Amino acid sequence: MPDDGRVWIFDTTLRDGEQSPGCSMNFEEKLVLARQLARLGVDVMEAGFPAASQGDFDAVRAIAEQIEGPVICGLARTGDADVDRVIEALRPAARGRLHTFIATSEIHMRDKLRMSREQVLEQVRRAVDRARASGLQVEFSAEDATRSDRDFLVEVYSAAVASGAQVLNVPDTVGYTTPFEYADLIRYLRENVSGSDGVVYSVHCHDDLGLSVANSIAAVLAVARQVECTVNGIGERAGNTALEEVVMALRTRAGYFDGLHTGVQTTEIYPTSRLLSTVIGVQVQPNKAIVGENAFAHEAGIHQHGVLNNALTYEIMTPDSVGRASNELVLGKHSGRHAFADRLRELGYDTEKVDVNEAFRRFKQLADAKKTIYNEDIEALVTDQMLRIESTYRMERIAVVAGTFATPTATVEISVDGEVRKTAALGTGPVDAIFKAIEELTGTKAQLLRYQVNAVTSGIDAQGEVSVTLEEEGVRTIGQGADTDILVASANAYIHALNKLEQRRSSGVSSLRGI
Ligand code: MN
Repeated sequence: MPDDGRVWIFDTTLRDGEQSPGCSMNFEEKLVLARQLARLGVDVMEAGFPAASQGDFDAVRAIAEQIEGPVICGLARTGDADVDRVIEALRPAARGRLHTFIATSEIHMRDKLRMSREQVLEQVRRAVDRARASGLQVEFSAEDATRSDRDFLVEVYSAAVASGAQVLNVPDTVGYTTPFEYADLIRYLRENVSGSDGVVYSVHCHDDLGLSVANSIAAVLAVARQVECTVNGIGERAGNTALEEVVMALRTRAGYFDGLHTGVQTTEIYPTSRLLSTVIGVQVQPNKAIVGENAFAHEAGIHQHGVLNNALTYEIMTPDSVGRASNELVLGKHSGRHAFADRLRELGYDTEKVDVNEAFRRFKQLADAKKTIYNEDIEALVTDQMLRIESTYRMERIAVVAGTFATPTATVEISVDGEVRKTAALGTGPVDAIFKAIEELTGTKAQLLRYQVNAVTSGIDAQGEVSVTLEEEGVRTIGQGADTDILVASANAYIHALNKLEQRRSSGVSSLRGI
């Protein structure tokens, strides 16, 4: 295989990212993100783990049907049923990849799989053979590779190649390795696995020691040509390798990395990060590299002075290069429906899937309440609208009394499967009163774990973006709401979280975990 220095970006936001607590996404949310990931230009998109639940299967199938550009990948354990489920889900894909895995460390084989080395090897051959026979590309992962015996790894990967695997992934499943050690392991495999010349080596790192990006890049410098990563670095425990950090490191230090490059459209990085945060309701910390609020802020006077004279005095990359030309006025009160629809398309929304008339009506309302409308406002509004479709509960009207003198009281009207219900409740504050009223109307037993408010943009008239985390019988969901009135946003977010709980109940919940 010719090596032109191209590093494949394998995005697993929708699979490993989605496995992280509170980051689960429903069908519509996955499709919205998948569309944006295609715009971002990822090479491979791991869309899910079809055997994990019917919901996962449906999402992978729909992504395979609708998303053009990236290779669409589905994850499977080595059993026939898992493999067949992926083959079925990927049937509509123009280019599909089956990613199968099995653990190879002594501790995993003994205490989790209860299999001998010979049995594990047999599983690898069987799964890869079966997957190859379907005509899909095949990627094989030795789970917990970094804690596995090297010589056994060589045997396992050699078996996978002999059966036709084209990509060998070397996961640091538990975030245990360090850069030089990891690079050395990949080099060792390259030299010792039979048939290595014809395959792509891939890395999959976790950030338990804060080393996932460093480990991935060290491996790329050695020999790896595919990096598995997620937007904002979301993922199990401390998360996965952050896509934006790997991509911008290779780009910003192109001279040092000597021809290593990715195909990512970097100006889509920030919009993708924002969209993900909005959808899952998990914001990145302000000092997060590339996409954090302060990543390009220059506070110190001497720095500001330098940046004003020449941005490069303290900036190693420009905010524009990652799509952060934000806070520009995009549309005003007098913009027409046509200009609005154009802007939606520019922001990556499929205008056939969004109710443009409804979005435009809400945009006009927002423009009345708020002087300037930014891209972030439109994103918040459309996401808020998309997340509200096909739901059990719907917010109708709300009125709240609060202050230092009155007992906080909320009167709330919602519809439940179309039937309108109304009640009033007292609370310790206005949000508490709203939530008590909704609790009474829906009869929910869900427990409120977290309530969070963020401003979508700067300015006193900014929209508030509220996220509410609920838990019921071990299932956790996050609801979102955005509005210039944070009490309305709070009610919407709470109802959204309840709707997601309902949806999770009907689509089935899985505790299956991948590599
Ligand atoms: Mn993982």
